[in-house]
Amino acid sequence: LVEIRGMCKWYGDFSALFDINLTVAEGEKVVVCGPSGSGKSTMIRCINQLEAHQKGTIHVDGVEVTPDMKNIEQIRREVGMVFQGFNLFPHMSILDNLTLGPIRNRGATKAEAKDLAMHYLERVHIAEQADKFPPQLSGGQQQRVAIARSLCMKPKIMLFDEPTSALDPEMIAGVLDVMIELAEEGMTMICVTHEMGFARKVADRVVFMDEGEIIEVAHPEAFFGDPQSDRAQLFLSQLL
Ligand code: ATP
Ligand code: MG
Repeated sequence: LVEIRGMCKWYGDFSALFDINLTVAEGEKVVVCGPSGSGKSTMIRCINQLEAHQKGTIHVDGVEVTPDMKNIEQIRREVGMVFQGFNLFPHMSILDNLTLGPIRNRGATKAEAKDLAMHYLERVHIAEQADKFPPQLSGGQQQRVAIARSLCMKPKIMLFDEPTSALDPEMIAGVLDVMIELAEEGMTMICVTHEMGFARKVADRVVFMDEGEIIEVAHPEAFFGDPQSDRAQLFLSQLL
């Protein structure tokens, strides 16, 4: 579903990503981890062209990702993304936050968009909050709304960039539970996260990055139990 070949990215003369190769099959769940600044966010942001790569290729569902605006719109319809911050519109109700995308970008009617929104709000266990506004919700609830909003666009793959790292500890489990449910339903997922419990539970593979390169790709049991590279060993020894 996603195929990255020989991808390189520079910021000026700083090499942020070097020779990234990664294939993610339909239904696969990949967890990306690594030290701060290793290029995790940059890599997943290239997949939906929030960042442009300069070398190599990325294909999503057979379509090559290019900086062309038409192409970007097409790719972003297939690729959902959830960030650390929730990026909800604070002045719009939860329901309106969810119906906006399908109405604008998928040609849904208001009624269709509302049904879809309520369906996904139920799935993230928050349907009773539909008429509230984002600032009235806890961080964990807002993040679940952000996930539901992405799902309303019926993405083929979901990208997560540290979705729980800005949350209070007691809010994390609820968001991870939603992500685990999504994984169990067969969603293709690439998740940047240091939640090792989540990785062990759902990841088919763990990708370890350092200094803009993929250093290690392994099944979670192998990665956590017996990391091969010195850098991965160091990284894991520093995690709580
Ligand atoms: P973290 O765990 O802290 O989120 P990360 O692995 O996601 O880190 P990236 O955000 O992908 O790291 O950044 C990779 C490198 O690229 C870092 O050295 C960062 O300083 C650099 N970088 C990121 N965005 C830009 C930018 N817009 N301009 C210049 N350099 C950037
Ligand atoms: Mg990051």
